[in-house]
Order: sequence, then structure tokens, then C-alpha cells
Amino acid sequence: MWKSTEGNPVLLLQELPQRRIDEILADNELMMKIDCVYQLFKDYMAEAPDTSKPSIAYFSMEYGLTNVLKIYSGGLGVLAGDYLKEASDSNVDLTAVGFLYRYGYFTQTLAMDGQQIANYEPQNFTTLPLEQVMEGTNQPFVLEVPYPGRTVYAHVWKVSVGRVPLYLMDTDIPENSEWDRSITHQLYGGDWENRMKQEYLLGIGGILLLNKLGIKQQVYHCNEGHAALINVQRLVDYIHNEKLDFNEALEVVRASSLYTVHTPVPAGHDYFEESLFGKYMSEFPDKLGISWQDFIDMGRTNPGTPEKFCMSTFALNTCQEANGVSYLHGIVSRKMFAPVWKGYFPEELHVGYVTNGVHLPTWMATEWKKYCERTFDRNFLDDQSNKAIWDPIRNVPDGEIWEIRKALKNKLIEYIKNQYRDNWLKNQGDPSKVITLMEKINPGALLIGFGRRFATYKRAHLLFTDLDRLAKIVNNDKCPIQFVFTGKAHPADGGGQGLIKHIVEISRRPEFLGKILFLENYDMRLARRLISGVDIWLNTPTRPLEASGTSGEKAEMNGVLNFSVLDGWWYEGYKEGAGWALTSQRTYDNQQYQDQLDAATIYHLLEDEIIPLYFAKNSKGYSPEWIQYIKNSMSQIAPEYTMKRMLDDYVARFYSKLAVRAARLEKSDFAEAREIAAWKREVADHWNEFEVESFDYQDDAAHPTVGEEYDIRIVIDRKGLKSMLGVEIVYTKENPENHQTELVTVAPFTLKKEVGSKLYFELHKKAAVYGHMRVGFRVYPVNPKLPHRMDFAYVRWIQP
Ligand SMILES: *Cc1c(COP(=O)(O)O)cnc(C)c1O
Repeated sequence: MWKSTEGNPVLLLQELPQRRIDEILADNELMMKIDCVYQLFKDYMAEAPDTSKPSIAYFSMEYGLTNVLKIYSGGLGVLAGDYLKEASDSNVDLTAVGFLYRYGYFTQTLAMDGQQIANYEPQNFTTLPLEQVMEGTNQPFVLEVPYPGRTVYAHVWKVSVGRVPLYLMDTDIPENSEWDRSITHQLYGGDWENRMKQEYLLGIGGILLLNKLGIKQQVYHCNEGHAALINVQRLVDYIHNEKLDFNEALEVVRASSLYTVHTPVPAGHDYFEESLFGKYMSEFPDKLGISWQDFIDMGRTNPGTPEKFCMSTFALNTCQEANGVSYLHGIVSRKMFAPVWKGYFPEELHVGYVTNGVHLPTWMATEWKKYCERTFDRNFLDDQSNKAIWDPIRNVPDGEIWEIRKALKNKLIEYIKNQYRDNWLKNQGDPSKVITLMEKINPGALLIGFGRRFATYKRAHLLFTDLDRLAKIVNNDKCPIQFVFTGKAHPADGGGQGLIKHIVEISRRPEFLGKILFLENYDMRLARRLISGVDIWLNTPTRPLEASGTSGEKAEMNGVLNFSVLDGWWYEGYKEGAGWALTSQRTYDNQQYQDQLDAATIYHLLEDEIIPLYFAKNSKGYSPEWIQYIKNSMSQIAPEYTMKRMLDDYVARFYSKLAVRAARLEKSDFAEAREIAAWKREVADHWNEFEVESFDYQDDAAHPTVGEEYDIRIVIDRKGLKSMLGVEIVYTKENPENHQTELVTVAPFTLKKEVGSKLYFELHKKAAVYGHMRVGFRVYPVNPKLPHRMDFAYVRWIQP
């Protein structure tokens, strides 16, 4: 029944016949086990939040907690789900907000010809592991969200993710018109207007929900730009309740907000036409005390132009901090967002990064968890991101590792056989063919897995670039190899669906039959089996489009080796002797050439390194070198990519400093917020007034001889501007490849004296080698109470 309910505990209890319940109650041994588990659960739940860490409100369109709650589509959602679980384990006071979708994300079946069929099945909420939030004892809690010309009502459901509450809004109730009931029907379905209505609900409704529940947190975290409108409602609340003006409220909101971007290309962000945005947001400028122009400009890279309203730009403008999701993606994000802060170079932006991780207790197979607790430390889970705790794996007998790997592989094969027999019968038609297919799944083969959304940038087709070469690789009887593919394509993504079809067709050819399998309906349950059961996890995205990727991290903690493009997390994670990498160099601008090169590298690595290593088996049936790779990757890579490490990073890099500063700004009736807002207004009003009075600059400072010392003196008369100013010299160089100006270095001038409105600056410099450079000078306003320069990125370039 556990299997037939797809692991849904609520449904299982509902379907359990009374007779069976009576039997269980009479079974002392089983009851003892249940009591024991229940006691552990109660002890876990009784732990109080760790008050040394800030409280967080977290907003996301999707959450991947379990396959029975179909409110996720892929990596973004699974990450958010894992995050809530870790927040619970780490005792962070976190409250999360999202949607309970009636149809959720689709389940996938494949037609005979490999065409994807997307099935949206309505979910019966009473059979799911959640409870409805009530008002009093028997009235449903109803959230009222003002939409233009009407109120939209939402029921609210709570998922208890351990100690962390996740509140899900649901508009599919009779109080709403059909038009509004569908707001929470589908994840990433519908048209732009529906998306606007959803993001309005997540942002405006999300904050109204927390208000009504009486929840106020120290830090507000937008997981992706979808939730950015939370800051509109938060501004309205501060203005209305605290009698702040718009600029003062903005200081407070910004100081307590973090925006995490997951998308590496501008096209991946949400943009709304001004007319559509205006249809929903036109009443807000009045509530905020600003003009429509000022309001919509907060979502534009170039204010005053007819650009669409970009949720990400709005998030950047209303959140003090922002981050990408891996080291590399941090760099990519700074480049992507650079146009928002004119006068600065990408590397100067405050946009940071936290590399994604995965929740180890969810993704590490039980066999491994037991083994690690036994061999490493009983409290292994509490200290899972500490490398030292994994160290003993270097010295365990190879055979023990191999036994676990074998057991997990067999489990996967069983799972595939059970789960897919029916579908294959249906699709392949000929039962005898299916039997051969089943028999061909060989536990002795090198099993390579590929599972992810079929977005085109993930390049699922890459392996199939040279079919003759691939056929040779998979048809070597001495070294059997099998590939398992799985993944859904978004129903509107024709390209992705075409890829699935293409792979299914290839898998039906005689030379690939049973060597390449395509499994339907990639979800968390299949992911968990697949990621722990294969030998190699393959990932071949187009650089640098994989912001992080997380499935490979799940593989790491199961002794599965990664073979991946050096992109996202693997750029940091890869270590020689612990997996394989496709180089990070981009050789061709032409994507087709690049694909061919990358495909050739894959074949070559398989033929010359991976396959020989795997099949260098000893008399006990395994390759000691392969086990060495597993030991290296588990001891050196896995601990770094746990969700615990990720949450710790968020606390250390963002949450703590945000919470401290936000509290300071709110103190004494928002004194510091008011002060900074007033200062910014003063600078904005008088920025054009200051003048360069003298500029003492020897021309050869631009091309100094190495070691030569020189001085530059600048006097600035601030005239009507009261603020302190800073001056810096900026060295730039033209990149010969793309002719873009790149930053070499920046050096600040020293303020020598201040006389009346005049500031005397001096720079004493010893020349170093920087090649052929250009030199520029920048003046900027100085206020030590700002968190970083981009918080108020005024700048004027001056010339001698
Ligand atoms: C982990 C996971 C993902 C994300 O994997 P990527 O490596 O980011 O593609 C997507 N879908 C499911 C079901 C997952 O479990």
C-alpha cells in the first residue's frame, strides 16, 4: 500500500482497513517500533528555535518536499524544499510562503512515438500531508487580497516541514470567480496575465497572509524574482503603520531583504508589459506616495524608457543584498546585472553567491546513512558538512563500499522493472520485446544516469551526436554499458519535447535497444532511486547556463561519480581522481561546433578513462581504482554540498548582517532610516552642483615606468552639496577578444584636508605593471552608514 500510494502517509492511513488497524494495534512488536519513532519525532519537534540566528520569511513559487505534494517542477523547487527541511534540522526560525496548486506540475507519460503527454490531475487536498488553517474551530481561515476592482479570497494550508511552517495559498474556492480560481491551478502554466496574478498573490498576498497570522520576521528572502512584490506590500505597511515616507520605508525594507537569482540569462527573468503591470499595480503609487513613473522605473534597467517591468530589477532595487547560486553564477550574475548600476564594473557589484546544496537526510540512501553513522560518528548527521567527519571513509575496506553500491544498483533495477513494465508493455507493443529489454538491464554493466528538465540548454542530445561511435561504445560485450535517461519538458517547450522524442526513437533502434532506456515521469521519488543507483551521473549543460545544478550533489553523497561540464557547482566541486570534467574553456562561439567538440570529449573520456577504470575488476568483482574514486569524492566533495553548509553560508554571508542592520535602522523610531533617507535626498538634489576646482595630474601617470612614484592632486568644491565625497582612480583595459572595457584596478585618493566647502584629495602611487591601460577618475558620495557602494551608486566621472 505504501508503494501504491506513492509513499503518501495520509492516504495510506485513510485507506488502511479497520481490520488491519486492529491487527497493528495488537502487534506489540510493531507498536513498539511505532512508539519509538513517534518518541524520536516528539523529541525533535520539542527543540526550541536557535535564537542566535535571525528569523526568516521565505517566498518561493515552488517547493519540492515529497513527490506526493506536486507543487514543484524541478531544481528551483527541490532546492526550496530541501532548504525548509534543513532550516528545521538547524533550528532556524523560518516561515515559508507559497501556493497549493490544484493541478500542480504535470505527470508525464510518453506516447508510442515518444511524444510527451502532460497529465494535469487535480489533487485532492484532504489526502495530502497538510492541514487547512482554520479561524476559530471550524471556520476556514480566509485571506482577502485586494485585486483591482475586486477581492480575491484564498484558503490557506499549512505543511509542517518538521519545525518549519510552510503556508500555501489556494484560490480555487467558490468565493472567487472562475477567472480567479485558476490563479493557483498550475505551476508555470497559463499566460502572462495569469503569471502576473500569481506573482501579485505571492508578493502582496504573501505579506498580507503573514500580517494576518501575526508573523513578522527579521529577514525577507525572495527565492527568485517571482516573489519580489512582497516589497511593495512591505513598503505600503511601513508607510501606513509607521508614518514613514516612501524613501524612509525603502531604507527599512531594503535593509531586511535578500534576493537570490537562479537564472543566468536576461531572457529567463519575468518581464511585464507596462499595460499589464499597470492593470494590477496602478493603485500602489498612491499608497506609496510616489508617481507611477517612479514606481515602474524601479523595475527598469534604464529608468524613463519604455522597457517592460522586470521583476528581477525590482528585486535588486528593493533588496539590500543579492546573490547567485554558485561561484561561477555569481560572476555571471554580476555581468548580467551590471547595467543596473551605471558607472561601475561587474566585479564591483555587491552581488555575491552561495553555492546550492542538497538536504543529505533526504538524498543519501538509507544504506549509506546507516553505514556513515556506524563507521564515522553517531552524530554524523549533525555535523555532515564537516569534512573531517567523513575522513574515515578513506580507510574502510573497499569491499564494504562495493557492497552498498551493488545493493543500491539492484534496488534501482528492481524499481525500474516494477515501475516501467506496464508502460513498456503499452508502448513497445510486443511483449517479447519487453522481456528482452528487462533481461538486458544488467547489474554488471556500467550504469550511467541522466535526469533533469529537458530545457534545451541542458543538452540531453549531446551524447547522441555521433551514433556510430556511441553504438561501438555500448556494444562492447566485455564492457557492458547502459544509459538511463529521464526528464520532463515544459509543455510549452517544443524543443525540449522534441529532444525527448529523439532520444526515445534512438533507444528503440536495434543497436541501442536495452542499452539506452528512457524512464517516464522524473520526480523526486525516481530521482532518489536513480541518483543513488547508477554508477555515473552525467550532466552536459551549455556553459555557463547551469546556474548551479543540484542533482550531481545528490549523486556525490551516494558514492556515484559525476561526469559533467565544468559549470555551476561542479566548477567548484570537481577534483582530479574524484570524477570527470568537460573543460571550462569555451572554444567556439558557434554552439554547434562547441557541441561537437564536447561530444567528442565525452566519447573520448568514456573510451579511454572511465570504461577501463570501471572494468579493471579484481577477483572480487570490483575495480579497486574505482572505489578509490568513490572514496575521494565522498571524503572531499560530498561534505561541501550539503544543505547544512548552504544554510550556514546564508546565515554567515547575508542573514546575520541584514538582521543587525535592519534592527539598527528601526531603532528609536527609525532614526537611522530617516537619517540615511534624508542624506540620500540631499545628495540627489545637489549632486550636479559640485565642481572640480583643480586637477594636478602628470600625464605619464597613465603609462608609468614600473616602480616610479607619482602624485595626483584634486581639489573639489562641493558648493551646495553637503555630503562628504570620495575620489578614486580607475584603471581599465580593453579586452582584445570582445573589445569590452575591463576593470584592472581601483585606488582611492586620500582626503588631505577640508576647508569650507573644499575638499583636497591626493593620491601617491608607485606604478606597477598593468599593461596598456586607460585611466579614469570617479567621484562618489561617502556615507559610512551605507552597507555597500551599490546601495546608493551615484558616481560622476571627472577629467583632468
Ligand atoms: C534534484 C532534482 C532536480 C534538479 O536537478 P538539476 O541537477 O538542477 O537539474 C530536478 N528535478 C528533480 C526531481 C530533482 O530531484
